[in-house]
Order: sequence, then C-alpha cells, then structure tokens
Amino acid sequence: MIQITLSWFVCLYLVLSLVGILILWIGYEMIRKHHANTIARDRIFCRICGTRHTDTSTADLLVCPVCGSKNERATGGYF
Ligand SMILES: [Zn+2]
Repeated sequence: MIQITLSWFVCLYLVLSLVGILILWIGYEMIRKHHANTIARDRIFCRICGTRHTDTSTADLLVCPVCGSKNERATGGYF
C-alpha cells in the first residue's frame, strides 16, 4: 500500500485537476480554430461588385452570383 500524507494528496489532486482542465482547454481551442477556418474558407468577397456570399464548393476560382466575375478564394482570416 502506498503511504501518502494529506498535503501530498491535496497537491496531487490540484495538479491532476489543473492538467485535466488544461487538456480540455487546448482541445476545445483546437476545435474552435478548425471550425473558424472552415467558416472563413466558405465566405467569398467579390472585388468587382463588393458583395459577400458563401460557397461551399472546393474550386479555387469562384463565379460571383451577382456580377459573374471570377474571384479567388480567400485564405485565412475574416473579412
Ligand atoms: Zn461580383
């Protein structure tokens, strides 16, 4: 049987609790960033007519539904 004092038990309990919270925090942050990048990739800003629309296709050149010009997909960031 492992002998452990009350002070070591409290210290171990705090360390394990903080490590668990840190792991959950990092996991949720990674999921949030992945979701934000997916949303930003689907949003298109037309540089000719200035409209914003959403396109979920995988093509690099997208046709604007308003003016018909071709636009490149924005990489990263919000507009
Ligand atoms: Zn346009």
